[in-house]
Amino acid sequence: MENRPYNFSAGPGVLPLSVLETAKSEMTNWHGSGMSVMEMSHRGKEFLEIFNDAKSRLISLLNIPDTHEVLFMQGGATAQFASVPLNLLGDKKSADYAVTGNFSGLSAKEAKKYGEINIVADLKSENYNRIPRSDELNISENAAYFHYCANNTIYGTAWDYIPETKSVLVCDMSSEMLSKPIDVSKYGLIYAGAQKNMAPAGLTIVIIDKSLLGHEMPITPQVMSYKKMAEKDSMLNTPPCWCIYMLGLVLKWVEENGGVSAMEKLKRERSSIVYKALDESKIFTAPVEKSSRSDMNVRFYTGNDDLDKKFIDGAKMRGLLSVKGHRLTGGMRASLYNAMPIEGAIKLAEYIKEFEVEENA
Ligand SMILES: *Cc1c(COP(=O)(O)O)cnc(C)c1O
Repeated sequence: MENRPYNFSAGPGVLPLSVLETAKSEMTNWHGSGMSVMEMSHRGKEFLEIFNDAKSRLISLLNIPDTHEVLFMQGGATAQFASVPLNLLGDKKSADYAVTGNFSGLSAKEAKKYGEINIVADLKSENYNRIPRSDELNISENAAYFHYCANNTIYGTAWDYIPETKSVLVCDMSSEMLSKPIDVSKYGLIYAGAQKNMAPAGLTIVIIDKSLLGHEMPITPQVMSYKKMAEKDSMLNTPPCWCIYMLGLVLKWVEENGGVSAMEKLKRERSSIVYKALDESKIFTAPVEKSSRSDMNVRFYTGNDDLDKKFIDGAKMRGLLSVKGHRLTGGMRASLYNAMPIEGAIKLAEYIKEFEVEENA
């Protein structure tokens, strides 16, 4: 496929072509087993090999210490919005939430069903165009945990620091996991829906400090209990087998391409190509404050809906797909996940410049 378009979708996002080709070649007969991965018993030896391979690759790529357990769960990041308070509120009854956009707002709203939630910051009045500084966080003394969203997929912002908290640090890393190294030891819990930067939709990765297991509320559904899932090595019920297989292929691809440090270098390179074109432009605006800019999701607009639409339609004709912004923000958004080739960012930057010349002509 020489002329594969560049897909800037925010999620489900682009996957490496070589991974898709491998999946295709193994589709009907995985490694001579005579079965597709979709047809295997999740307790059979073939699938257990796939499962253990994906899990150990994730542990080694992210350097996950023995203090932490990896869980493969379902229900997306959205199920975690409930699982987190159900499992972690414990006796404390309250938790801190930083609201920096849509998903962190939704996570706080869901958590309110289960306990007292302190909103430690909410920059809605600034259209979520930046991340709060550490001195703007009203951190409580007695919270069970502090929840934040590392990369705000819709607003195109990202935390450039790890907040210092008195309580357990919990982070939604859905749209940035595998894009850079993480100091896992700093976190009590990390979760990420796989469909942004890792695998197809249907799998959620949870990394939890083992010392936090076992404090769930009695009403916690067993599929949402981290303790139950850890005891059963994520096989309490049928796991999302195909997604775990795909994750394994993607992790192998990340390894072959230099690991998460190399991914971080590449993401900086991609995003700076696009931001540079936007910063030099007279008709496009990138509204996010520079220190809060996301490398994964680049948000921009012209300020004129018709012109934005013209840009989006023209992009599609050039094979630059899904650059339309989220309905909450309008304008454009280019998601630059791991599997986006550098050439995709270059092509987008070229189009930004050419569009401007055409419109000014
Ligand atoms: C997409 C996304 C979610 C929601 O994920 P689902 O898997 O659809 O539930 C939550 N948080 C972030 C940061 C996201 O990008």
